[in-house]
Amino acid sequence: MDLHTHTIASGHAYSTLQENIAAAREKGLQFLGLSEHGPAVAGGPDRLYFLNYKIIPRQYGELKLYCGAEANITDYEGHLDLDNFVLERLDYCIASMHTMIVTPGSARENTMASIHAMENPYVKILGHPDDSRYPLDYEELVRAAAKLQVALEVNNSSLHPLSARQGANENQWILLQYCMRFGVSVILGTDSHFSSAVGDFTQADQLLKELDFPQELVINRDPGRIGEVVNRRS
Ligand SMILES: [Zn+2]
Ligand SMILES: [Zn+2]
Repeated sequence: MDLHTHTIASGHAYSTLQENIAAAREKGLQFLGLSEHGPAVAGGPDRLYFLNYKIIPRQYGELKLYCGAEANITDYEGHLDLDNFVLERLDYCIASMHTMIVTPGSARENTMASIHAMENPYVKILGHPDDSRYPLDYEELVRAAAKLQVALEVNNSSLHPLSARQGANENQWILLQYCMRFGVSVILGTDSHFSSAVGDFTQADQLLKELDFPQELVINRDPGRIGEVVNRRS
């Protein structure tokens, strides 16, 4: 499964949904998640885009499509740029911090922003908690994710050499070690902004291998665990 992908609707991604679906099927994925940026990102879709997901077919041969969002955390209280009326109609929601939306704070402020966002029952995944521009208390974050049953993401794009997120390798390393210590699962996401990246977890897989990270703590390895990261009704 790859639940973190963007299309041209996000404003700075370059493939269509049809192209992402074709790429996902080629890679043999069972689940593809469409997670467009929330409306606070310049050039991104507005709320009506998310409210019309109902018209999109969800099954493509063996591939099932989930339609969600990567909502923006807009402040240190963990507010999101999508309201509950929209969130309850999505298949799932990722919550992430982006520098153009929320000014990086202290580790305390960033950690509380993330935890408060995870307290939102519609948030299933915390996106890319791996950016040194947003220092985090990883022990506290991992404990909170376990308690709130939100999956922490290992973001493949963050690990890419061209990524703007700084220190992602070292930060994910620390995060994954706490996950191993406390037995907390993670989810891999590509954060694809072009179809060829859909389902390509090369960098993330390499990191997990170096850490000898247990397969049973990777949600992607077991399709039966999809219910942990999407809304029950979908
Ligand atoms: Zn993001
Ligand atoms: Zn993204």
